Amino acid sequence: MDAEGQVLDMGRKVRLATPAQRRAVIARYATCWVDGCPLPATMCQIDHADGWAQGGPTDLANLGPACQFHNRDRYRHPDRYQRNRTGKDRWTYTYLGRTSRFSGRPPPEPNGEHEDL
Ligand SMILES: [Zn+2]
Repeated sequence: MDAEGQVLDMGRKVRLATPAQRRAVIARYATCWVDGCPLPATMCQIDHADGWAQGGPTDLANLGPACQFHNRDRYRHPDRYQRNRTGKDRWTYTYLGRTSRFSGRPPPEPNGEHEDL
């Protein structure tokens, strides 16, 4: 629990971060957790470091901000991202794919919508 008595570890009970978890993530991260991505955390989706589909819990230690592009791209191409521990329960990802990191984004998928898998 945090200082306001909010439960920040939901385990496997819920897939999507709670409002309290979202506030806590935004307090811990300034931007999308992919290195070099400038999108403010306030505009990010809350992502699981260990994916929910792979059994990752919805606990604060496993959550961080990912912009819509990186959330989806890491889900689709996990091999392109290297996970780095930067502190206690804090993570960043280094994009290992194309060298022109933020130019040449692929166009949005017409029906590939997902949130925080
Ligand atoms: Zn991003």
